Amino acid sequence: NIRDKVKNNLLFVLTLCAVFWGLILGVVIQQSVTPYSTDTVVVLLKFPGELLLRMLKCVILPLVVASVITGLGAINAKSCGKIGGVAVTYYITTTVMASILGLILVSIIKPGSGNEDNDYIEKEGVTLNQNTNTLDTIMDLLRGAFPDNIVQATFGKHATKLTNMTRVLKDGSNSSYLDRSLEFKSGMNMIGVIVFSIVVGVIMSLHPEETAPLMKVIEAINNLTMRLVTLILWYSPIGIFFLIAGQFAGVENFGEMMSQLGMYMVTVLGGIAIHFFIILPLIFFAFTRRNPVNYYLNMLPAMATAFGTDSSSATMPVTMRCVEENNNIDRRISRFVIPVGATINMDGTALYEAVACLFIAQVKGVSLNFGQVVVTGLTATLAAVGAAGIPSAGLVTMVMVLNAVNLPTDMISVLLTVDWFLDRFRTITNVMGDALGCAIVQELCAEELAEMDREKERLENGD
Ligand code: ASP
Repeated sequence: NIRDKVKNNLLFVLTLCAVFWGLILGVVIQQSVTPYSTDTVVVLLKFPGELLLRMLKCVILPLVVASVITGLGAINAKSCGKIGGVAVTYYITTTVMASILGLILVSIIKPGSGNEDNDYIEKEGVTLNQNTNTLDTIMDLLRGAFPDNIVQATFGKHATKLTNMTRVLKDGSNSSYLDRSLEFKSGMNMIGVIVFSIVVGVIMSLHPEETAPLMKVIEAINNLTMRLVTLILWYSPIGIFFLIAGQFAGVENFGEMMSQLGMYMVTVLGGIAIHFFIILPLIFFAFTRRNPVNYYLNMLPAMATAFGTDSSSATMPVTMRCVEENNNIDRRISRFVIPVGATINMDGTALYEAVACLFIAQVKGVSLNFGQVVVTGLTATLAAVGAAGIPSAGLVTMVMVLNAVNLPTDMISVLLTVDWFLDRFRTITNVMGDALGCAIVQELCAEELAEMDREKERLENGD
């Protein structure tokens, strides 16, 4: 056990060092390399990180399927409903709170007002799905939840694609910056796979005798995946180091970015900080009476991974490990709350979308009435639920929020210039929201868990 402790802490320290030195190396390179060579340098620097991402993504499918099914298989049908209900209530409540917080902050700070001489971008070449509206998004979400082909669902769906960013200032001049054409392709139809696994898991728990052999196989896959995750975790400090170094080395002009969008960034980051450091820990403490500081510290490897990968889905294997092994969350809870949360529970994204939407309204000089602000909050929440746990997904689903209140979408290209940065912080918040949710659900469902333990004991004793 002492060996385990040393091992765990070693990984922890290595991960933190990776974040720190990655940042330093990235900034040093950013300062010292000529713009022409940056591209190659960035690609090469990020390469070991790209390998980490590939490994993480590789285990997501077996991890989600096996953990959801074995998790639910260990729960009786009655408790499934209660655990699911509590989890979903928690997801929705915290996400709505985050988007309200965003709306309040952006209305107070007004980062987009009084900027008439601040020439924002007209942009060109953004291929966004401009017609996304709320109804489309809801229907897409539901379509995703009912895949017509489960094998295909595991291969992936294409999401909106952004390409070829060019920024043109209002005075006609071009301001050049690294072309960050992004392809939004999510590895798999996560919602579809999760819904399918949930249904299969519930059926298996209702008919244990019929499905016992299959459950054994899935349990074995689950154990195997966990071992794979352990291996990947030992590689993760290297990957995180290079991902962060590469990302920061590639920043074109931080000063210019700050002067144009500084207040907007301050608003988003301030909101995320309030939600992350005050609201979430308070809710957590109110329900669990556990020390939030310890709980947060135990999640640091997951936060570092979220910061490096920009993706709550890719971070999921690490999140699951941290809550189970460091924070003593019951697997019957984490195996449901983490995969579902990584897909739909995104507080950071909701807050961000609310801020960004009102920011755009302020810059464009459009004043929204109270009803429209409420619509913004609601659609921001929905857009966060609809966003996949992949880099910059929140920026894509924001089209829906803008369309809901008839705001132009052209400014999205401006926001894209700083999105790589803000996205890291909202991803950390998204991941932490799921992790804290586990403890809260565990606390509120303690009675059910204890009852299941007693039942299991009775069965084992043969009476
Ligand atoms: N990158 C975020 C996540 O994976 C989603 C987003 O807000 O863009 O959680």
